Amino acid sequence: MKKLFAVLGNPIGHSMSPAMHNDLFSLYNMNAIYLPFQVKEEDLKDAVNGLRAMGAVGFNVTIPHKSKIIPFLDEVDELAASIGAVNTVVNIDGKLTGYNTDGLGFLKGIKAIVREIKDKRILVIGAGGAARAIYFTLAKENPIQIDIANRTVENANRLIEDCPFSASSKALTMEEAGPLVGEYDMFIQTTMIGMSPKITENPLDLQNLNEQSVVCDIIYNPLETSFLHKASERGATVQNGIDMFVYQGALAFEKWTGIFPDIQRMKENVLGQLGGK
Ligand code: NAP
Repeated sequence: MKKLFAVLGNPIGHSMSPAMHNDLFSLYNMNAIYLPFQVKEEDLKDAVNGLRAMGAVGFNVTIPHKSKIIPFLDEVDELAASIGAVNTVVNIDGKLTGYNTDGLGFLKGIKAIVREIKDKRILVIGAGGAARAIYFTLAKENPIQIDIANRTVENANRLIEDCPFSASSKALTMEEAGPLVGEYDMFIQTTMIGMSPKITENPLDLQNLNEQSVVCDIIYNPLETSFLHKASERGATVQNGIDMFVYQGALAFEKWTGIFPDIQRMKENVLGQLGGK
């Protein structure tokens, strides 16, 4: 019998996870299928119980259910519980355990261009769910400084207060962060500014950017946001959101199957889905 995997979200039609995981099942000769399910918030509990009843081996959870799923799981690991969001669920004999692989996915992806986090001064731009996963994961790595700039500075403050790992951090408005750009080694852009329809907009002026800086934008469509383009023009090393996306999926795949999959193959699959853009 085919093993069942899934992703729950709303909307879900855009998700690149089914094709990425199904390609891995064929690569590893696994009799398995990964299906997308569009689930309304009021149906989430039934959907989760349905997957448990049908013996799904595991599933992903995406926007807008990453936090709302928590009460319907049997256990949530410590990092996911502190982040307050789950993107990966493992089903062992009917017991559902939730994990968050977004932050670790970001960390694994960035290791290709950054050797150490602990000697970095980092600015995270944005304070939403993705920023939360990334900030908590990086705070644990003991950077020299990790600040958060956000449109709503109260959300950045709350994020810092909620983090169980102590880090040298302050919350900034975008206006406060602008003149400080030259003081950071690493920037992680986590807002949706740069995605359609805001493709020409930038969250922060990079005029004072150091050319030794590393600038990441976790958006992957477009592959190069205006923010990344400007950082590149100023000589910074840049990375888009493909690496984070692929590694969060790889970590989920490993939890379900015990296999850490072929990252290059996953990247090619995702780039193919994006039309090789
Ligand atoms: P979210 O929880 O809704 O957070 C959105 C963040 O963007 C908040 O900080 C919000 O600021 C800010 N923001 C939204 N509109 C803004 C505007 N017009 N001007 C300034 N700031 C604005 O979203 P999320 O789940 O963190 O996702 C954020 C982005 O990350 C999305 O583009 C998503 O596709 C991407 N993402 C990528 C990956 C990957 O694997 N590469 C994984 C997850 C997410 P306020 O606090 O002021 O509202």
